[in-house]
Amino acid sequence: MLDVSHLTKRYGRQLACDDVSFHLDEGSVTVLLGPNGAGKSTVMKAVVGFLRYEGRITAAGLEAGSAEARRVVGYVPELPALYPNLTVSEHMDFLARAYKLKDYQERSRSLLERFELWEARRKFGDELSKGMQQKLNLCLGLLPRPRLLLLDEPMIGLDPHAIKELKAVLEELRAEGRTLLVSTHILDSVELLWDRTIILQKGRVRAAVSRAELEERGESLEALFFSVTEGLEPAEAPREETP
Ligand code: ATP
Repeated sequence: MLDVSHLTKRYGRQLACDDVSFHLDEGSVTVLLGPNGAGKSTVMKAVVGFLRYEGRITAAGLEAGSAEARRVVGYVPELPALYPNLTVSEHMDFLARAYKLKDYQERSRSLLERFELWEARRKFGDELSKGMQQKLNLCLGLLPRPRLLLLDEPMIGLDPHAIKELKAVLEELRAEGRTLLVSTHILDSVELLWDRTIILQKGRVRAAVSRAELEERGESLEALFFSVTEGLEPAEAPREETP
């Protein structure tokens, strides 16, 4: 579904992605992990077509960033980009028009209700709290139901109810056979969901492991993360404190 091949991206002299290659199978859920500055957002922006880069990226066989690929790929950015003069409902209508969505009103209402934004639907972009902005950002990304959805740190700023809803929505998308790439720092937020993890560090892929492989090794996602990013053996990796 997604092929990233030898992706290299420099911002001036800063090397953000260094020869990154990976593949996502259709219908799979992949967690993109990495410390701050590892290159996770850069990978996502390249896939959506927001950046120039070296290498090749195709989504469903279509050149990333092309008009055809944009119909297949959806994106929830890390930071919401909202219009101060549009209401919550108008943002949803605007996005539906941009994606030429038909009969979207029911889904739009359902998403706004699930994320507790329906009562705030007449509020303007600049009248929303940070968490509300984050939730609207999510609703906008979820409205088009793309075949491949990229979510960049989607749990940040969400209250527990919204996190629960988001997990449920992601489960539904997975059940529909959509392909998901989720970057996160909150490892237990994806514990039940993921099939594969890709760990980036300093712009390079340090590990790409399936859930089955990790289970076979008897290792947790957290232990793998620390062993890769801190060079620790799994047994030395910090564990959650037990009360
Ligand atoms: P975080 O977890 O903190 O969001 P990340 O893994 O998403 O980090 P990126 O945002 O992709 O990391 O950044 C990768 C590297 O590229 C970092 O060194 C960052 O400073 C640099 N970088 C990102 N965007 C820009 C930019 N617009 N201009 C210059 N450097 C940038």
